Amino acid sequence: MFADILFNLPFDRKFTYSVPHSFSFIKKGDRVKVPFGSRNMTGIVLNVKENPDGIDDISKIKEILELYSPYFRMTEIQFELARRIWLYYLSGYGQAVHTVAGAYKDVRIKKQIFEINPENKILLNVNQNNAINQFMNTDKKTSLLYGVTGSGKTEVYFTIIEQFMQKNKQALYLLPEIALTPQIVKRFTDRFGEKVAVFNSKLSNGERNYALKSFRQGEIDLLIGTRSAVFLPAKHLGVIILDEEHESTFKQQDNPCYDTRTVAQWRGELENVKVIFGSATPSLESFKLSVSGDYEKIMLDKRGDGRKMPDVFLVDMAIEKKVSRNISRKMHEEIINTLQKKEQVLLFHNRRGFSSFQICKSCGEVIKCKNCDITLNYHKKINKLICHYCDFWKTPPKKCEKCNSEDFEFMGSGTEKIEEEIQDLFPKARIIRVDRDTSSSKNFYSDFYKKMINREFDIIIGTQMIGKGFDFPYVTLVGVLWADFILDFPDFRSAERTAQLLSQVAGRSGRARDGKVFIQTYAKDHYAILCAKDHNYPRFFGEEIERRKILKYPPFISFVRVVLTYKDKVFLENSIADITSMLKLEIGQEYFLGPAKAAVFFIKGMFRYNILFKINNNRKQVYEVIKKIKSKNPKIRFKIDVDPIDMM
Ligand code: ADP
Ligand code: ZN
Ligand code: ZN
Repeated sequence: MFADILFNLPFDRKFTYSVPHSFSFIKKGDRVKVPFGSRNMTGIVLNVKENPDGIDDISKIKEILELYSPYFRMTEIQFELARRIWLYYLSGYGQAVHTVAGAYKDVRIKKQIFEINPENKILLNVNQNNAINQFMNTDKKTSLLYGVTGSGKTEVYFTIIEQFMQKNKQALYLLPEIALTPQIVKRFTDRFGEKVAVFNSKLSNGERNYALKSFRQGEIDLLIGTRSAVFLPAKHLGVIILDEEHESTFKQQDNPCYDTRTVAQWRGELENVKVIFGSATPSLESFKLSVSGDYEKIMLDKRGDGRKMPDVFLVDMAIEKKVSRNISRKMHEEIINTLQKKEQVLLFHNRRGFSSFQICKSCGEVIKCKNCDITLNYHKKINKLICHYCDFWKTPPKKCEKCNSEDFEFMGSGTEKIEEEIQDLFPKARIIRVDRDTSSSKNFYSDFYKKMINREFDIIIGTQMIGKGFDFPYVTLVGVLWADFILDFPDFRSAERTAQLLSQVAGRSGRARDGKVFIQTYAKDHYAILCAKDHNYPRFFGEEIERRKILKYPPFISFVRVVLTYKDKVFLENSIADITSMLKLEIGQEYFLGPAKAAVFFIKGMFRYNILFKINNNRKQVYEVIKKIKSKNPKIRFKIDVDPIDMM
């Protein structure tokens, strides 16, 4: 017997191997290990056959070395998802198949053990009950649950999952990586105990295999996972819940650049199950489809416990006096008030490190990364200059490399600097900083959460890591120190991002007692900032969708972004001229932007150019051109991003 094997390589070719007798039960979709060149590679069986057609010298055919256990075998539905990803996201077929199949090691299963902890079961309010009924009764394939922060969406999901469980159906609950905190997992496991498994990149291979196998064999009713869990086969799936649907990490940033939302909908269609997207700040794309009635629009416009939304105030930094570099007088006063009441303050700042660059005061030289076109961030505690793109670091030089001056200034503040300022202003306060630098240890989050609940901290300073999903009862003041930092990004979604982030961060305040939010800004009249101030996301949507329509941006058209990368700038620029003219010739000039240097042009030792064009029903044609161009330019790396979320 012989088998055709597909590899995770950027071309579509399959390779024939012979099947040893001991593997005679091998089937399409099986995962195998085979010799490939001088090494062993994992492949997926595309088909099994009696004869090695088209191969002259049978003695050259190599034998399959290992056959993985059958719960790794790709299902027909998975093959169909791979086919759609290949055709829609214009990736290689091998890459699409391997993305769907996932990367696994055939190791012993390690069971995940959770116990039910039936504390405080909540009585649903009328809105929540209506939302559940609306979802259970709609005929629409996709629903959008638009529920303001703290409106009790999670409780709605619980009941939906239970109703499916009663019908002996399984649920798949997907969350972005950053929102899949131990706190959220615990809420689900407290409720459903051993019926749950979790699937994310932080688990051991054994634990991931447990999630895979138990979901596939119907031994668990609920799988909680991040992006790639959307591909895990189920025995009898009933519902897919995709929470925080506006999060950009649902889009894969490497070939194939699939969108988890789209894959979830395909899966819904193929397995005849309903899909629900949830968010307090839905993406423009989803919101539009719910307004038009393509999706069932389900709303929760009040907080679950009946509490009012926090009052949000803008601090106009153009006129407001400051008490330190980053803290306004107003913010300072509010922090004092909150500490006096023995409540907690959460300060949000979206940049880690101490300063964002070190500049020579006499000649203006800025210290940059050697691999990227990016300034190095100073991290004071460890006394290093670090690149936030490639992690390159060096010790800060004593003398300017250009003029020998020893007079430097550190510009731009990160969370470390904020921490220092706050410590100076409030020497008695117990402060914790939460960012990538402080939170890497395994138990960080569970410790942090416990200490928050015990009120062992007064002030929390953090990046977006604290902006999502957390529910801290004693936080009554949320401060945003620099609200405008996204607005200037060269990205048509910068207003949307700002509105989403501010609304989410503001939503951390006043969870169990009334709260306030203070937002420091230089753009107090910007509609994205006003959206967070007035808790009026629908009005923001109305304004933003008009703007997109006029400018002819998504969701009114679909883009493809091609990112071309190579280490030699001249070679890349020469090739790009050809590539661009070939593309233009085949697909036309309309909406053709670029080639343009990417916002970060030089990154990790590679130069990057962007090309952006519109795609509609000419997908097949675009695919063929790209395939042709790729084979003509084998040295250059192509990233093909259909419906791109990241434009930079
Ligand atoms: P969301 O996911 O929409 O942000 P959660 O489900 O986390 O909201 O609920 C926010 C808070 O409101 C939680 O502390 C939850 O216990 C509480 N809550 C939710 N629904 C109700 C309800 N019906 N009655 C009282 N409290 C509720
Ligand atoms: Zn200098
Ligand atoms: Zn770098």
